[in-house]
Amino acid sequence: MTQPILEVNDLKKHFPIRGGLFGQTTGQVYAVDGVSFSIAKGETLSLVGESGCGKSTVGKAILRLLPVTSGQVVLDGQRIDDMSAGKLRALRRSVQVVFQDPFSSLNPRMKVRDVIAEPIINFGLATTRAAIDERIALLMDKVRLPRDAVNRWPHEFSGGQRQRIGIARALAAEPDLIICDEAVSALDVSVKAQIVNLLQDLQKELGLALLFISHDLAIVEHMTHRVAVMYLGKIVEMATRREIFANPKHPYTIALLSAVPVPDPGRVRDRIILKGDVPSPSNPPKGCRFHTRCPMVFDRCRVEEPELKPTTGTHMAACHLHDSHRQVDAAAMTLASSANARQAVAAT
Ligand code: SF4
Repeated sequence: MTQPILEVNDLKKHFPIRGGLFGQTTGQVYAVDGVSFSIAKGETLSLVGESGCGKSTVGKAILRLLPVTSGQVVLDGQRIDDMSAGKLRALRRSVQVVFQDPFSSLNPRMKVRDVIAEPIINFGLATTRAAIDERIALLMDKVRLPRDAVNRWPHEFSGGQRQRIGIARALAAEPDLIICDEAVSALDVSVKAQIVNLLQDLQKELGLALLFISHDLAIVEHMTHRVAVMYLGKIVEMATRREIFANPKHPYTIALLSAVPVPDPGRVRDRIILKGDVPSPSNPPKGCRFHTRCPMVFDRCRVEEPELKPTTGTHMAACHLHDSHRQVDAAAMTLASSANARQAVAAT
């Protein structure tokens, strides 16, 4: 892998819970609890997991929209998690974000021209009106929108077009890294594919790194280089796209993948239904955080937290099964889930 553009080391973001008469701290929400990864120039890393697993909080912490509790965020060799606001301003340009809802992220009182011109002016990338307009016209070409659309208002566009405007605005700052926070989740299937194709083309053309935060594994499968799976504030598995989708190692990943639709109608995938809800991040289970829902759970899981460590090559998983050389695959999981279900029925 080439020199990382972004390194995140043991990142933690805890939110205090305030209560009582005087608003004292009564606990913590462990939203992100020791997350480490890196992204190279021109690479896409997808951060996936169920809603509430902490993936969007990781994105916000990298963007410094939230102060971090501990850990390091290193951007292009410089630590930014503790950088002063003044110094950070110069680096802000190199990380941009595209949010899920393009309508709320675009100022409805600004025409498209002004929306895209703002970062160009703020970062001093062009100063004359003609130079700014030229940049905006090129950006409209890049996101495949007509140049004359710059004179319209955000509400005049469809969801997909608004997301293209959001991408043009992000590109206007000439970033090295774009964080796409559920950037295609609110779009129709065909529009989703168009925006993903656009992001991939822009990545190839501009050498952009992408942190793609999503709960949609079907989309991730088509566009990522590597995947990091999060559960309850921690990364539980990280590997290349091919490894994650062909040979998942963690029971949680196996269960998530079992719910992804298979394009071939002749192939049937056994859906693994996880029992119970995701535990509260203010009171994560002891031992393995996934043990309350894991069909493969055994005694050690309830007392000892598994480390994220290599299983084969660069494939990493946090699961004791890989130390005990037990079989971890979809077939074993399906058998274990059915055995658990039978036990539950027998107990009633
Ligand atoms: Fe399941 Fe145990 Fe592995 Fe956790 S450590 S995922 S509970 S088998």
